[in-house]
Amino acid sequence: MNNIQWIKSPVNNDGAAVTFSKKLKFEKSIRSVCFKISSVGVYKAVFNGKKLGTQVLTPGYTSYGKRIQYQTYEVKDNIPRENIIEITVAPGWAVGHLGYTGEKSFFADHVSAVARIDVLFEDGSVCTFRTDESWEVFTYPVVFADIYMGETFDALHTPAYLGNAVLDRVETTLIPQQGEDITEHEHIAPIELITTPKGERVIDFGQNMTGYVQFDVCGKKGERIVTTCAEVLDVDGNFYNDNYRLAQNRVTFILDGTRRIYKPEFSFQGFRYIRIEEYPDIPVELNCIRAIAVHSEMERIGRFKCGNERINQLYHNIIWGQKSNFLDVPTDCPQRDERLGWTGDAQVFCRTASMNFNTKKFYSKWLADLRADQTKEGAIWGVCPEWHGKHRPTRISAAWGDAAVIVPWEVYLAYGDVQILRDNFEMMKKWVEYIRNFGPEEFLWLGGYHYGDWLAMDAGGEGCVGATSNDLIATAFFANAIDIVIKAGSVLGEDVEAYRELYANVKAKFRDYFMENGMPKDELPFTEIPPAWKPNATIIDSIRLGITQTALVLILKFNLCLETERDALANKLEELIHEFGDRMSTGFVGTPYILHVLTECGKTELAYKLLFQDKNPSWLYSVDHGATTMWEHWNGIKEDGSFWADDMNSFNHYAYGSVGDWLYAVCAGISVCDDGAGYKKFLLRPHPDEKLGFVNCSVDTEKGKIESNWYYKKDTVYFEFSVPKGSIATIVLPNGFTETVCGGKYMYSCVAAKKSSEEIK
Ligand code: BGC
Repeated sequence: MNNIQWIKSPVNNDGAAVTFSKKLKFEKSIRSVCFKISSVGVYKAVFNGKKLGTQVLTPGYTSYGKRIQYQTYEVKDNIPRENIIEITVAPGWAVGHLGYTGEKSFFADHVSAVARIDVLFEDGSVCTFRTDESWEVFTYPVVFADIYMGETFDALHTPAYLGNAVLDRVETTLIPQQGEDITEHEHIAPIELITTPKGERVIDFGQNMTGYVQFDVCGKKGERIVTTCAEVLDVDGNFYNDNYRLAQNRVTFILDGTRRIYKPEFSFQGFRYIRIEEYPDIPVELNCIRAIAVHSEMERIGRFKCGNERINQLYHNIIWGQKSNFLDVPTDCPQRDERLGWTGDAQVFCRTASMNFNTKKFYSKWLADLRADQTKEGAIWGVCPEWHGKHRPTRISAAWGDAAVIVPWEVYLAYGDVQILRDNFEMMKKWVEYIRNFGPEEFLWLGGYHYGDWLAMDAGGEGCVGATSNDLIATAFFANAIDIVIKAGSVLGEDVEAYRELYANVKAKFRDYFMENGMPKDELPFTEIPPAWKPNATIIDSIRLGITQTALVLILKFNLCLETERDALANKLEELIHEFGDRMSTGFVGTPYILHVLTECGKTELAYKLLFQDKNPSWLYSVDHGATTMWEHWNGIKEDGSFWADDMNSFNHYAYGSVGDWLYAVCAGISVCDDGAGYKKFLLRPHPDEKLGFVNCSVDTEKGKIESNWYYKKDTVYFEFSVPKGSIATIVLPNGFTETVCGGKYMYSCVAAKKSSEEIK
């Protein structure tokens, strides 16, 4: 895509889609036509009346100032001599509303298009066309489109000629499609048409999701279908969408009197319910209405089923949390005025995500955006693709910026491709350097403006930040980041000695500053360093405790204690869990690790207790309250049915879905070894539990399918494993029986009671 000109409309058609069109006439027969197309805004390309490609929302979402993807399409059959290519572009992420400050035009204030068309004739000659001033610009029936606000399609609209295209300047680099295609998936039939107590007509699709609703209707000319959407109903069964904040998600179709299929083309919504605000004067036929799920096209590789329906529902919710939030970038949520690539959420969930689906291509593309957005000092923002509201930039926060090290490492472990480490190693090191140069103490990360243990419950649960000291969290993640750089550098054959030394210093300093007598200090000092880029920032680290579930989890998980201190720390963690009513008080930072830490410390029974807990905060609390995706807050809907708040209460946030990795790794027992990336070496170490009843689990790896199934029969647990050819598995049964095997199928049984030594091969 060199020497290529961007074009724009001669008229700023604010908020509406415009079509750039070019007629292509030839004297000779055509063998094929190859299109390379992109836009500022989202586009749909149509050649001779037929949409090119199956992708939607092209060119996707990248750090537009640095990179914009283009898509390639090839047409081969029956190409006439007179042709027309039409590229319709709507505001999308680049021009429409983006972020939670109500701002628009984050990247540009108008849409633009760019294309290169190579025509190959039957005689072997080639002719190339590019976007230029000869293209004509027309209005389009989508008279309004915005990712957050929705879309208006006017079937009565006759496209009007706006003039010839004007050359445009777009400061970016065009790159070929790098991520997975964004495509349509499940078509979901409504389960019910409800009339709410307020008398509103609401359609329930039975599943919270991301996508849009399609209507196949024939109304009278000028009649309208108008819908808004919601994820949940309120306690009285009424439609509720206050949690969408500024995002209106209003979809309007103006009918022309013919039978037509209507669905948004340049917007998407996150919803389970739609409210019908206007409808033609005909009955609402549920048969003619479908919700279409839209997400990046990743291959499903992981499957988990057990004998407990509530845990199966939890797993279902994790899968749908991922489908809903993997739309070209890993987003926090798909419905309100965010849908942003929050880095913290991404790192928290990426291990689970990479067992559910093959995420290699998806994350490789996003990591390229992350590299592009990293500051020259090495900082990684809270959101990628970079988004800073004019007055509210995102923060450079521990556990959020750590996506720069954690995501490449987890993707490497899942698929064993060293390239992901090669591509990202510089970014990983720069992130560590950024932290190292932060603040007054070289080996500690003190001060700054963090998100903390976001949404943890140990500070009362009314605010957003938990009780754990931000300084402690930040320094623990600093150590973890260095540890990952050491591991990744060793794989790449880099000299990591300096990092080993740095790690030793950080660990020593951590212990010295945050711990005494093998325990974290309870009350910790706090270093106030307002960030230079935001002098008026309110420092949010008002609570700074060292003895919290999250602090203990991090110390154990990141190995910041001595071996001799582990038992006491684990016992303290157990004590805090009991004190909190056998529940977790952890937020985004502690939750992904808490069950693993308990298992590693020999407390799997307690981990199961937390898994099966159904009082808030717990995973099953949301399941029991009808969730079909993961909730953002443990208490998104409170016991009395009221909402945590309107302001920040998504019912489709995947972060707490990170427990999926424990289902795979501990319940089913499948986990990759650090020195066996791509499941060349892995553990099969199931932890059967009678409440689960049985587990059937599989993961398709680069080497083949791994299976781990177990079930109870009377007092005996039976295990069936499949190990792919070319990989090595270490099987560890609950009774301690251990053996290392290679490709094949293996069956065992052992007496269910713990510590039994009876095993039969
Ligand atoms: C998002 C989160 C995100 C957070 C930063 C929220 O608004 O939805 O998931 O990580 O901001 O703390």
